[in-house]
Amino acid sequence: MYNSKSSKATEFINHEEIMESLAHADAHKDDIALLESLLQKARPQMTQNGVRCAGLSHREASVLLACENPTIIQKMYALAEEIKIKFYGRRIVMFAPLYLSNYCVNGCLYCPYHAVNKHIPRKKLTQEEVRDEVIALQDMGHKRLAIEAGEDPVNNPIDYILECIDTIYSVKHKNGAIRRVNVNIAATTVENYIKLKNAGIGTYILFQETYHKESYLKLHPTGPKHNYDYHTEAHDRAMQGGIDDVGLGVLFGLERYRYELCGLLMHAEHLEAAFGVGPHTISVPRVKRAEDIDPDVFDNGISDEIFAKLCAVIRVAVPYTGMIISTRESQKVRDMVIHLGVSQISGASRTTVGGYTQTIRPTDTEQFNVSDQRTLDEVVRWLMQNGFIPSFCTACYREGRTGDRFMSLCKSGQIQNCCQPNALMTLKEFLMDYATQETRRTGEKLIAAELEAIPNEKVRAITRERLNLIENGQRDFRF
Ligand code: SAM
Repeated sequence: MYNSKSSKATEFINHEEIMESLAHADAHKDDIALLESLLQKARPQMTQNGVRCAGLSHREASVLLACENPTIIQKMYALAEEIKIKFYGRRIVMFAPLYLSNYCVNGCLYCPYHAVNKHIPRKKLTQEEVRDEVIALQDMGHKRLAIEAGEDPVNNPIDYILECIDTIYSVKHKNGAIRRVNVNIAATTVENYIKLKNAGIGTYILFQETYHKESYLKLHPTGPKHNYDYHTEAHDRAMQGGIDDVGLGVLFGLERYRYELCGLLMHAEHLEAAFGVGPHTISVPRVKRAEDIDPDVFDNGISDEIFAKLCAVIRVAVPYTGMIISTRESQKVRDMVIHLGVSQISGASRTTVGGYTQTIRPTDTEQFNVSDQRTLDEVVRWLMQNGFIPSFCTACYREGRTGDRFMSLCKSGQIQNCCQPNALMTLKEFLMDYATQETRRTGEKLIAAELEAIPNEKVRAITRERLNLIENGQRDFRF
């Protein structure tokens, strides 16, 4: 039985409910009046408490995703961009993944780290190596990391992860600092989530890979990750452990994308129903080629057009959730989806363990082939040239604005008086410390123009003053 409040995976992600939703979507996908009404419902509306977005249920979003009418799709794309700008402005938050260890006991069929892959060199960073990687990342200008590791209780136990987090936060090289560490490690216990929370992590991210239980069991034939229920209920345990920013994701290509979107939105609805706060982020990775992995063996690869449609539907359905695109996607695809509601992207990523300290991009322990291989400076410049504001801000969680407190900030519209100045100040730091001449010129112009977009006069004046202080060598201001 479907029950969004239930703590049981197969009740909050209910197969029958998904199948019925997809049948409902098939039956209504050409109903223009209904589709228009869904777009209308999702549109930002003025209320007594400011602008609000109603979002869409998994069923409603499934109808939009099934729709093939080009006019409706174009309207939906415009709405996705409108919603993004309304709640997040034109800021795009920057981050990089940091691979700690590729030791893994699981048998995930799509991942080169799977336990039976005997040709991939296994590597786990020492604390000295973590430090060197962090220095290399700081020297590019990164302030926010997502740490990644395979699941291996002997080689990568929770104490190793905690030690790495401590090391990462402790490195202060020149003006560099990693100010937020997000964590993407395997599903674990409430006790371990409490430890992660106490270590000061930002978001706990765990991809579901697929919501289709039968496929999930086949795709994860061995290891602890085989346990679908334990994996699917992990975000609940993280919330119980006090981590109130959690990230969801599907690995698109494994199962039918319409099934996955429906499951993903049901998961978001479950978190909202059970904990009063939806997911902080949603990631939309697609399966990529890697050592020992041929993405074409999976039957459900999706075109760039469908991928764009998925991003837009997610933005319209869950307006207050950040959306993340990694360097799995090419510049061309990223060009398209930054206009459809994406709020966070990685730059200059290396998906190899120890990759950032190598002069030439290594591929021997790569988790997936990186499509967008531009430098961080190039990505930052490209964003600015496209009218976006690259942001290295990490203020919210450092100020305790997580979970429902972040959501209410987002809903109140005050984000423009808070995130906009923080974005400009952290961009200024990047321009001063790491940018090329050309990027700096582009950035200075953008900051001057965007300063005027801060609605509150007092905040604007303080920001102007702080930008001057940054120019004169001070760092790390935040609202
Ligand atoms: N071991 C942890 C887990 O099981 O969740 C950490 C995650 S892993 C380092 C990060 C993510 O990479 C996985 O959740 C999966 O979705 C994605 N991934 C694995 N193989 C991939 C591939 N061939 N192409 C694209 N993404 C892949």
